[in-house]
Amino acid sequence: MTVTTSKRVMASLTKNRVKQEEEGYLRQPDASLIRAIIANVRARRARTSLKLVQRRGDHTDLNSAKELALEGAKKLGPDEIPTTVDLKWRISGASLSAMTQKLAYQEIRDRKLKSVKPRSSTTTNLEIVSEGVKDAFGVDVTEAEIWKSIRSKHVSSTCAQFLWKTMHNLHMVGNRWLREGMPEEYQDRAICAICDNVESMDHILFRCEAPGQAEIWNELKVIWETTGLPWKQPDWGTALGAGCAVIKSETGVRKKPMEALWTILWTESVHLIWKLRCERVIHRDGEVHDKLAVKNAWYAAIDRRLTLNRRTAVLAKCKHDLKQGDVEAIWAPTIQGYRDLPEGWVGNGGVLVGIKRGQG
Ligand SMILES: [Zn+2]
Repeated sequence: MTVTTSKRVMASLTKNRVKQEEEGYLRQPDASLIRAIIANVRARRARTSLKLVQRRGDHTDLNSAKELALEGAKKLGPDEIPTTVDLKWRISGASLSAMTQKLAYQEIRDRKLKSVKPRSSTTTNLEIVSEGVKDAFGVDVTEAEIWKSIRSKHVSSTCAQFLWKTMHNLHMVGNRWLREGMPEEYQDRAICAICDNVESMDHILFRCEAPGQAEIWNELKVIWETTGLPWKQPDWGTALGAGCAVIKSETGVRKKPMEALWTILWTESVHLIWKLRCERVIHRDGEVHDKLAVKNAWYAAIDRRLTLNRRTAVLAKCKHDLKQGDVEAIWAPTIQGYRDLPEGWVGNGGVLVGIKRGQG
């Protein structure tokens, strides 16, 4: 039996545990201690009971703890409390689903205030994206707006997770395999086997010669041109900052449905490129995809996304949800045989709808 006098510690170990683990213990002053306790409890094979006790009272354990504390007070320096946690039992970082924009932002702000260096690669990535967005769409976006754009309703949760991890350089790609302490036999993983370069997210998404990125961007270009709106080169701004797209008519009015379409198509494309690269490297033992298979995977991903939007629109409840009219406004230019579709096609699951197939 373990006893504690702290209601907060008790809550952290029990009812708040899952939530706090998911939040990555952001804004928890004693995170490393709580983490270490949880890891130790998990590592135990036996059941652990916890008891909350009053500070005053006759508890032998507490009394001995008090004695230890007194003894400690007589020492010259503080003891090191072991808080390193066996990797197996550690849950690190905040998971995206639990990470609210506010929490993430507070955490980043706090790190700056403490003048603890924030993950410098994140800062760099945010700068690259914001420069790219300015270049492509002529607008200035703040870091907070970039984070918010990732959580837009037009970004699917898998895409959001990918974007978030990319911004934080959390994917095991390229240089990360060369870090100090990495076993030497992993060094080969840093290299793109097709191009013989050190891999990076930039390489994978925009430069790699393996069938994938070039084919996908090309299909996207063909579809985008059906909107009659200008095409922009794939880069960090247009792709990873896709949720910040600003598209205006000639008279300067913002075209919200086309901005949504941009966000949808670009985030799905960028995520598919990553997915295919992982498939090739991890599951296909390096064997490249057939170019036609890449194209088909792209059409399948976009068609799936259209179907998903139609389904969600049918279930729309609150004013923030996409309505059937919104779905129609977003997707209309890309849909095969759009003019022949019956009225109410968005909500009519019996009507098969897909996007136009490019020639080539
Ligand atoms: Zn490559």
